[in-house]
Amino acid sequence: MIKPTSPKVLLLNPPGRRNYGRDYYCSKVNKANYVEQPVDFVYLTGILERHAEYLVIDAIVDKLDSSACLKRILDFHPDVIVFLSGWVSWIEDFPFLAAVKQHLPGSRLIGMGDLFLDRDVFLKHDWIDAVLYDFRNTDILEYLSGNVQAVSNMLVRHQGKMVEKKLAKNQAPKTFRSLLPRHELFLKHAYSFPFAKRLPFVTVLTDFGCPFRCRFCVYSEIGYRTGDLAGVCQELELIRSLGVREVFFKDQTFGIDRQRGEALCRFMIDNKMDLSWTCFLRVTQAKPDFLNLLKDAGCHTIIFGVETASQDELNRYQKQTSIEETRRAIRATRQMGIRSVGTFILGFPNEDQASIQNTIRFALELDPDYAAFNTYVPKTEAMGFDSSLNHRYDQSGIESNTNAGNGVLTGQEIIHWRRQAVRRFYLRPRYILRKLLRMKSGVELKMHLKSFLFVMKES
Ligand code: SF4
Repeated sequence: MIKPTSPKVLLLNPPGRRNYGRDYYCSKVNKANYVEQPVDFVYLTGILERHAEYLVIDAIVDKLDSSACLKRILDFHPDVIVFLSGWVSWIEDFPFLAAVKQHLPGSRLIGMGDLFLDRDVFLKHDWIDAVLYDFRNTDILEYLSGNVQAVSNMLVRHQGKMVEKKLAKNQAPKTFRSLLPRHELFLKHAYSFPFAKRLPFVTVLTDFGCPFRCRFCVYSEIGYRTGDLAGVCQELELIRSLGVREVFFKDQTFGIDRQRGEALCRFMIDNKMDLSWTCFLRVTQAKPDFLNLLKDAGCHTIIFGVETASQDELNRYQKQTSIEETRRAIRATRQMGIRSVGTFILGFPNEDQASIQNTIRFALELDPDYAAFNTYVPKTEAMGFDSSLNHRYDQSGIESNTNAGNGVLTGQEIIHWRRQAVRRFYLRPRYILRKLLRMKSGVELKMHLKSFLFVMKES
């Protein structure tokens, strides 16, 4: 039961000129018409439950323009607005949000997103009252109760001063309590992702961040914690009780703690959960016995961060994987009857055309079931970002005017090579035929058709 005096909290994914994907430190233009569930909000509902009256407005999935979105916000009249933004869209988001603040000067605005890793973004925009970095701890509740000194990972304007709290990675707790999120609020069919075999689906995050230190990756900078397993299992049971059978595990390295990963799979097997799911794995984890267990637990698609064909680049960025391990992982996954997705990054700083072409050739050689070609995005200081705040970055590489070049190639050249990569991978007649022959459900057919039309249009 919510107390009558509970604050009104709005979880807001703002409107956008394009189909933006902004969640979990990621910001991009979504491929095709896919709209993923903003996982930050999914888990904030679990934390806010019983402590606040809250509402989710996702203007992207509901296709709300600015005025329709503003009307809904004013109708709710929130005390606090937690909003998503990102490097891809902040130039559009900020005027809208500043206007919201003008309409509701008493409401406090809290930002979330990759761009807030640069604290200057917060400092330069005084209509932003706070930044929330962690959606798996209870900082939001401390903030709502006015106890700002008790937060552990936020920036807050408080009584004319800035309170900056950030736990050093080695001080941060290693685990957190998984509070049951309100998945049912995110089951609209308009939410979709390319690898789903059934709809609706849910997005589940059993941990936060990543224990690895790949220098091009934002998850290497936010620490790593795991949710208690009992809470995760309870969440899976809740998902089943909602009648949902499709899950996107958004852990960046599913089961990197092998014992924990095995326990989770065994729970799904022993309890006959009948879930079908997708996850991210490092190529080093793709050992036959682990793949076998994943498959038995319902895994049908594994996303691997291949990144590049250059071992030198992998070493330079501390990926701690080898080209040969990648080959073995894709092969083993195929042999296990699980679909594989390779994600690639084109346009690393100082990467030349020959190196990009090598990566494209490598993608064709590996021949995973799907390939995602992204462009290098410098999101943090360590990644070489530009703090002038004049830039937009689209890691999917679809928004063509967002790439500033990499010191060797211009932004337009990198975008050109990304389009070439997509065309060369997806428009192979053999590939298309194979996909058509393997299609088993109407949902798969719909997803493939959507992706195919998108490739034709955008590339
Ligand atoms: S393993 Fe993957 S998610 Fe983790 S830091 Fe490296 S690239 Fe990022």
